Amino acid sequence: MTNETWGQVREELIKRVGKHNYATWIEPLKLSQLKNGVARFEVPTIFFGDWVQRNYGDHIRSQLASTGATVDRVEFAVGAAPAPARAAKPAARTVPPRAANEDLPGAPLDARFTFDSFVVGKPNELAHAAARRVAEGGPVTFNPLFLYGGVGLGKTHLMHAIAHELQVRRPELRVLYLSAEQFMYRFVQALRDRQVMDFKELFRSVDVLMVDDVQFIAGKDSTQEEFFHTFNALVDANKQIVISADRAPGEIKDLEERIKSRLQCGLVVDLHPTDYELRLGILQQKVDFYRSQYKGLVLADGVLEFLAHRITTNVRVLEGALTRLFAFASLVGREITLDLAQDCLADILRSSDRKLSIEEIQRKVAEHYNVRLSDLIGPKRLRTIARPRQVAMYLSKQLTPRSLPEIGRRFGGRDHTTIMHGVRKIEELITTDSQLSDDLQLLRRLLQG
Ligand code: ADP
Ligand code: MG
Repeated sequence: MTNETWGQVREELIKRVGKHNYATWIEPLKLSQLKNGVARFEVPTIFFGDWVQRNYGDHIRSQLASTGATVDRVEFAVGAAPAPARAAKPAARTVPPRAANEDLPGAPLDARFTFDSFVVGKPNELAHAAARRVAEGGPVTFNPLFLYGGVGLGKTHLMHAIAHELQVRRPELRVLYLSAEQFMYRFVQALRDRQVMDFKELFRSVDVLMVDDVQFIAGKDSTQEEFFHTFNALVDANKQIVISADRAPGEIKDLEERIKSRLQCGLVVDLHPTDYELRLGILQQKVDFYRSQYKGLVLADGVLEFLAHRITTNVRVLEGALTRLFAFASLVGREITLDLAQDCLADILRSSDRKLSIEEIQRKVAEHYNVRLSDLIGPKRLRTIARPRQVAMYLSKQLTPRSLPEIGRRFGGRDHTTIMHGVRKIEELITTDSQLSDDLQLLRRLLQG
């Protein structure tokens, strides 16, 4: 048996298993030996070998036998020398291709999202610590790790960091990172191509599954169902799962109860909105990088502090501001001063200043409690409406600079004492009613996020 014969057998196998499976599972195989009825193949990882053995072992054996060779058994062993393509040295700042993960349908990882480049502060220290723990690749202690928080607070960054770290520490593990949207897309594709079994097997074959922005699958019934089964299968097999979402499991609308409760079984950690120190720390770190890119640029004192103070929305906007500032300064060849920053970033600074309106608060509160906006503002005294109304009053007082009489006018012309009563009532209840304080925390995040 020569490699040429194996070449012919492979042609046959394409027909049997389909192009896609062939490219994924058969193409990488290297026939290394055929002796005493045993065909031996080199595979990139143990896992890969197991998979091929289970799924295609018989096909391969019978095809080989059909060429006239005596083949009683096929074996797969991790090759000493990986195939040339796999041995290619990664270019700087790209993610090294790794055999164990190469066949996984994951999303590409951003090489910049590492633990090294993640600045830790009070608002994210717990999330960071939990992510670090998962990245050690030790025994699973909590499952899933559920990370949640507003836009641009570092959820995706942390998940990529876990994947990068695991690649170094535990290269044999199959780590799959993808967005919930991609999960759905793959699933729908598998349904269409009648490859649901392959889909299921593939997702159940990973050691670490990370699904980003899981709120996306809320309301998408068949995808939720599949996700739930995948999730359970992996948890049962003691495989680590990491999930992110823009809010806590219990707060994701249209997500099945059983999924919510499973998601809550592990460690649920939130990334809080950034504080001044964290923002300054992130800016300082980025500046070190820009300094090396734009040599000779002078950064005046106080500029970073100014940005950290004024741009409070999210880290992505903060980074964008800095990028623009450096690009602009290098273009016009000027020192980066406060004046320059104010000119160059006028639009960002303005939108960060954007005042939250009472109407926005009312709308969000009504939506959250599932009451009509007109009822929230109107005269009904039903408790189910009166409490949300007081919440909206409280938030209006807290989050806008409006006076009590002004707020009263926006609440259907109520007297300022009514508003004050509402605000006090909520202040009083927050300390004892944990559901209410959760609601407030969420609403605040939604409104300010
Ligand atoms: P999310 O997924 O929560 O919306 P990302 O992880 O995409 O947010 O983060 C948005 C941007 O902000 C990324 O460029 C990320 O590197 C950066 N970022 C967020 N938090 C931090 C942090 N603590 N340290 C450094 N960069 C951060
Ligand atoms: Mg993200």
